[in-house]
Amino acid sequence: MNITEVRVKLIHDPRDKLRAFATITIDDCLVIRDLKVIDGGLKGLFVAMPSRKLQERCPACAGKNSIKARFCSDCGRRLPEQRGEIDQRGKVRLYADIAHPIRQESRDAVQREVVRAYHAEVERSQQAGYVEPTFEGLDYHQYGSGEG
Ligand SMILES: [Zn+2]
Repeated sequence: MNITEVRVKLIHDPRDKLRAFATITIDDCLVIRDLKVIDGGLKGLFVAMPSRKLQERCPACAGKNSIKARFCSDCGRRLPEQRGEIDQRGKVRLYADIAHPIRQESRDAVQREVVRAYHAEVERSQQAGYVEPTFEGLDYHQYGSGEG
């Protein structure tokens, strides 16, 4: 697997651990968007693959609710306390990856290339006349800050 292009859109909010969105191209033929560069504090930067919020159906009305919801947003009933899958760290899984590398070496390659592109973009952004890269056709407004 060759990552042939990485585009990075920096997020300029120091209160947010999200530092950037990234789009990668694999072998000049497959684009994966919505990767996130996240500041993991002491652990440094890490790259999260695109994911979707997991939802579960209300036992009473079958309405969809987020895993963390305590009451159904459709019928208002109290939802069962224990829901969702437990991940390797013993926490309830709130997100599922939409696309992800299978092998460790591919995972490492994505991490390495995206972090490298992120640093390059940060450097570029500090130069005069910097123009943010365009992500034509990509919508980033679906990222809600905080909740989740
Ligand atoms: Zn319900």
